Amino acid sequence: MTIPDVTSLRAPTAVPQTAVPDASGIAGIPGDAAPRSPDLATAQPVDPAAAALPRQPVAFSPESARVDIPILHRTVNGHPLVWLDNAATTQKPRQVIEALGAFYGAANSNIHRGAHTMAREATEAYEAGRAAVAQFLGAEGPESIVFVRGTTEAINLVAQTWGRANLGPGDDILVPVLEHHSDIVPWQMLAKETRARLVPVPLTPDGQIDQDAYADLLSSRTQLVAISQASNVLGTVPPVKEMTALAHRYGAKVLVDGAQAVAHFPVDVQDLGADFYAFSGHKLFAPTGIGALYARPEVLQEMAPWQGGGNMIESVSFAETTFAPAPHLLEAGTGHISGVIGLLAALNWLTSFDREAVTAYENGLMAYAQQALGAVPGLELIGAAPERIAVLTFTLAGQDPATVAAWLDQDGIAVRAGHHCAQPALAHFGLEEAARASLALYNTSEEVDQLVASLRRLQESGGEGQQTMR
Ligand code: PMP
Repeated sequence: MTIPDVTSLRAPTAVPQTAVPDASGIAGIPGDAAPRSPDLATAQPVDPAAAALPRQPVAFSPESARVDIPILHRTVNGHPLVWLDNAATTQKPRQVIEALGAFYGAANSNIHRGAHTMAREATEAYEAGRAAVAQFLGAEGPESIVFVRGTTEAINLVAQTWGRANLGPGDDILVPVLEHHSDIVPWQMLAKETRARLVPVPLTPDGQIDQDAYADLLSSRTQLVAISQASNVLGTVPPVKEMTALAHRYGAKVLVDGAQAVAHFPVDVQDLGADFYAFSGHKLFAPTGIGALYARPEVLQEMAPWQGGGNMIESVSFAETTFAPAPHLLEAGTGHISGVIGLLAALNWLTSFDREAVTAYENGLMAYAQQALGAVPGLELIGAAPERIAVLTFTLAGQDPATVAAWLDQDGIAVRAGHHCAQPALAHFGLEEAARASLALYNTSEEVDQLVASLRRLQESGGEGQQTMR
């Protein structure tokens, strides 16, 4: 195998200059006045004092977001990229890309140990990232935030620590049928291990969580309810706050999977009443490999470590080890320091916009896309819950989803095809696979028009799309 030449992956040169004020708040992460490529020799270390999320957001327009995303200015198969695979991962603003360069160019050090200046600076930046996540989620404080690889690891952490300690034979874990596999399989494994019962909460025909069935399934046996705040395949946004309040009446804990929610609307974990909240940085314009778990302070205090090693201890001897306080006892080993720096830059970028305006824009774009796609002959949208994020899962008569995605790819349009790691949700609609276009704040109605036009051409090709990929 040959190793690809990464220099060929250079960002396109024709990146427009942004009109959005630089809100990264991090010294060394250049804004408009600074050169596009950070001069690593002169890059400054991260300034945690300046890392608090912006308080005065600027007005939002999709163009003001697009100019910051270099990858949106490349071509794919000879066409400008139309990135409609945001539910799988979001594209990264230059503020995030440059933050990574600035960290490795000027500030790289391990954290939480070492008596030198750079260790201290890196630690302060890492902990500033924790404080920013806490602020972003409306958490009680930074101590409520555990850094993890992503939503999947957060859920597995809760299953392996809180779950193992609190579940046993005769206990129930309630999980709606629309959940992502990462909010099903860890509970299934835990149920097997503890002889608890995993109970699916059924859906209504349009893809909402059946609230009557949910109320009936809750009982004094229920120890945990695990729900997504937004479904990655149906887009459904369930009434999580009300469902949480109901679960609490039975003494159950509630884990909220926020993987698809955080990029689309503001979240307040205390207002939700969530005991646990999980998200992945890469679905929030940040790098892969970093995410966060929020746990309510009283619950977090009771959680035992799940991995042992450095960073999570107070003292170690062969006779006895004592552990660091939460959240550190749940973060064994060297953390993803640059990931946290990138996450901090992403949070600063996103919250530099008026988030209510972002949500309103996305809702409008979603309504436009639903109407436009609904008019494509043979196209059927899957899921019709009244409250939804901008996720459009669909089938096209006579075409298998993989063919649809491959056809669109020839036009530079990226959508996903397959089971979307939510097989029970698709099975509810009698499907094994579907295509999915998922939108973000930087998508436009022109891009939706291109999607629709390409799908119409596929239908007009009379099924030739099956044989001839242009
Ligand atoms: N939950 C939901 C709702 C998701 O959409 C995803 C990712 N598709 C996950 C969990 C898992 O996220 P990750 O792979 O980043 O851990």
